[in-house]
Amino acid sequence: MSNNAELFPKIISHAKEYGFIFQSSEIYDGLAAVYDYGQYGAELKKNIREYWWKAMVQMNENIVGIDSAIFMHPTVWKASGHVDAFNDPLIDNKDSKKRYRADVLIEEAVQKIEAKIEKEVEKAKARFSPFDEAMFRSTNARVVENQTKIDAINTRFKAALEANDMDGIKQIIIDLEIVCPISGTKNWTDVRQFNLMFSTEMGSVSEDSSKIYLRPETAQGIFVNFLNVQKTGRMRIPFGIAQIGKAFRNEIVARQFIFRMREFEQMEMQFFVRPGTEMEWYESWKQKRMQWHIALGLGEGKQRFHDHLKLAHYANAAADIEFEFPFGFKELEGIHSRTDFDLKSHEEFSGKKLRYFDPELNESYIPYVVETSIGLDRMFLAILSTAYNEEKLEDGTTREVLNIPAFLAPVKVCVMPLTKKDGLPEKAREILDVLKYDHITQYDEKDSIGKRYRRQDSIGTPFCITVDHQSLEDNMVTIRHRDTMTQERVAIADLPKLVNSKVSINEVLKQL
Ligand code: ATP
Repeated sequence: MSNNAELFPKIISHAKEYGFIFQSSEIYDGLAAVYDYGQYGAELKKNIREYWWKAMVQMNENIVGIDSAIFMHPTVWKASGHVDAFNDPLIDNKDSKKRYRADVLIEEAVQKIEAKIEKEVEKAKARFSPFDEAMFRSTNARVVENQTKIDAINTRFKAALEANDMDGIKQIIIDLEIVCPISGTKNWTDVRQFNLMFSTEMGSVSEDSSKIYLRPETAQGIFVNFLNVQKTGRMRIPFGIAQIGKAFRNEIVARQFIFRMREFEQMEMQFFVRPGTEMEWYESWKQKRMQWHIALGLGEGKQRFHDHLKLAHYANAAADIEFEFPFGFKELEGIHSRTDFDLKSHEEFSGKKLRYFDPELNESYIPYVVETSIGLDRMFLAILSTAYNEEKLEDGTTREVLNIPAFLAPVKVCVMPLTKKDGLPEKAREILDVLKYDHITQYDEKDSIGKRYRRQDSIGTPFCITVDHQSLEDNMVTIRHRDTMTQERVAIADLPKLVNSKVSINEVLKQL
């Protein structure tokens, strides 16, 4: 396996070469941070979406799903705070003319100092046995000095963010001696706030036109429909509303492939609870969502929680589930206790009551909300980057394989006649005609069997079925398993049951 720095570009080119992801408008040299999903990408994305939807909506009788419009009344974004507060602090380097998020520059600098500490600890661990790590961390001069530095920066950073103090943020960048990775200089502009919402005009003639926004999150479509769903669905608190849909953000620095896009898809769920119970639900959803990730079996230690240093304007608690991407641990999902901020604010701005009558308490109140919010594209990247493997085989060749969890794989089965004649293609198609009702399947009769296997490995197909001359006599075929490359002989009649059991989403859902 290549090291991580080499791995990421390989994953990106593999995604393109095998029809998972293309740059948007590629023939016009692309559009920054916008991507299209190809034939296999669209299938994988659909399967991830289905895993989330089933886990959230189908498995929970008190959660229902909706599909609200991207365009919303402009006052929604006033009420939600996005018009005034959905900003990122940006800074430019005057020499390279490159633009950065000031908060990200600081976070990365702090991570570098943290890495130094960890290196020191690892070195000492290897040298001393027994090793008292806590003692070492509290007494080693270099470790203590770096830890003190980190604590001081974090305190200043949090205060500056909370006070919207852009000069304070710039001063931290100066004090940390952060240089632009392109120009290598510290020649920075001032830090300024930049609103991330895209706006457009609605209305055919300019006099009628009014400024509207492309939604930067799907959540508001849920909040404004809270009472519609509660009443028509006769929902009783606690209950949730889930939604999957596009969101748009004019990201300052959009890089790292589909990790940070300007148009992306979110899978969000708002869980409405009795005020005062939100922290219990927050903890419970943190655990449930972590279990959803773990059940995918992408590997131990791939996910971790990260509590937010700065809480968004609507939250009283927030944590991220971070994933170990090829470029390090980064946010994959957010779990936020959003209080009654949104519903209360929509009440004020719309003048309509958004309250729930609780029959058990015999009173009306504005519910509190715990939200889980995950980026579908980021989840796609998490799966793709973990699945991509280069294996050295005994014959000296390298096999590129996507070990995608079978239930998420774009194509589940490829059926291959050993040769193009003697009735083998017809037999292969008979098998296909049975399996295609349940699964996305492929038929391939071109090139050697070895080459065909490799093609399927590259797109992550868990099973290849080969029809040979013997099959015509005994109605048995060879099934080859992607991960182990082992082959076994099975009866054609047993194929549907066998494949179904191995690619079933239900086994994964049962672990939740
Ligand atoms: P970040 O700090 O990375 O900008 P965020 O904290 O602004 O993310 P949220 O507003 O909590 O993100 O959005 C919820 C989820 O939506 C994120 O965890 C992420 O998976 C996804 N997401 C947010 N912005 C983007 C983006 N520009 N491209 C792809 N996915 C995104």
